[in-house]
Amino acid sequence: MIEDKNQPRTELSDLGEFGLINHLTKNLKIQQKSTVYGIGDDAAVLDFKTDKVVVTTDLLVEGVHFDLSYAPLKHLGYKSVVVNLSDVYAMNAEATQVTVSIAVSNRFPLEALEALYAGIETAANVYNVDVVGGDTTSSTTGLLISVTAIGKVAQNEEVYRNGAKPNDLLVVSGDLGGAYMGLQVLEREKEVFKVNPNNQPDLDGYTYIIERQLKPEARKDIVELLKALEVKPTAMIDVSDGLSSEIMHLCTQSEVGCDLYENKIPLDPQVISVCEEFDIDSTTVALNGGEDYELLFTIAQDDFDKIKGNPHLSVIGYITEKDAGLHLVTRAETKIELKAQGWKNFND
Ligand code: ADP
Ligand code: MG
Repeated sequence: MIEDKNQPRTELSDLGEFGLINHLTKNLKIQQKSTVYGIGDDAAVLDFKTDKVVVTTDLLVEGVHFDLSYAPLKHLGYKSVVVNLSDVYAMNAEATQVTVSIAVSNRFPLEALEALYAGIETAANVYNVDVVGGDTTSSTTGLLISVTAIGKVAQNEEVYRNGAKPNDLLVVSGDLGGAYMGLQVLEREKEVFKVNPNNQPDLDGYTYIIERQLKPEARKDIVELLKALEVKPTAMIDVSDGLSSEIMHLCTQSEVGCDLYENKIPLDPQVISVCEEFDIDSTTVALNGGEDYELLFTIAQDDFDKIKGNPHLSVIGYITEKDAGLHLVTRAETKIELKAQGWKNFND
């Protein structure tokens, strides 16, 4: 990583701005038909014919959204693209292009940015999106990364947060809480390392949750699966901040209530065992942890047979009238009001 004394170190000032941009972007390939012109002019040119276009952006700040003492730069590059693509998929759209802007201090050598761009390029290849532009500038201290993602969706196929109707089923992809517990393990190892730098972290047994934190995936496959099953969700959102706050967004915007069943929330066995180790309630982690990047959506009851038994999808509740409110039905079958704590307030 950046502090490794054995790594070569090329100063960014040796290349200059244009040399740097050229060096970082020269391997990027154009794969999408809709990309008419990518990097190299004043603006990229895209052509979406009759499709609708979706646009979304995220800004990641060192020390706020990532910690380079345990996040390798290659993973960070990958993740910064993936989190944006997740927002495109949450609109039921196909991601097609991204732009990547970075602000970087001279603390970083060229090799660090090469690693970051290796991750960006890998994500672009895995998800079949083109990097069509960006901006490169200096910062006085840390690293900032801003990614904008662009996608396309056929007319009337886009899905908003506001379309859920009473009696719809509430469905989530994959499993929840892994990224948060991965972060707990990484934070613990960081503290151990501070006390004894010779102590190599032993991360066996935590592989799945650490990967969920450092190298998350966006659920492109779920959008494709739903299309193949001919299921169009009535509402959809990606789970970036924890299930409970995403359910609240979806229900508030749809003007409905919901009953969420605790015993239906999908958890990986590793999340359950690490929650026991840390003495944290796994439901709390699924509800209030973050960064799982799964898709949460609602479907009409009539579509249930099409998704029934699919291993990637869990029906976790159903939509009610607005006046009924938002509730968690616990394993003990008591109903408690659902509160959004979100990621930031989790430790309060
Ligand atoms: P301008 O002066 O018009 O902003 P730049 O010199 O910043 O142009 O950029 C030249 C080209 O390189 C543009 O196509 C721009 O989108 C692209 N570019 C600049 N920085 C990056 C980056 N970090 N990643 C990808 N493309 C970039
Ligand atoms: Mg520029």
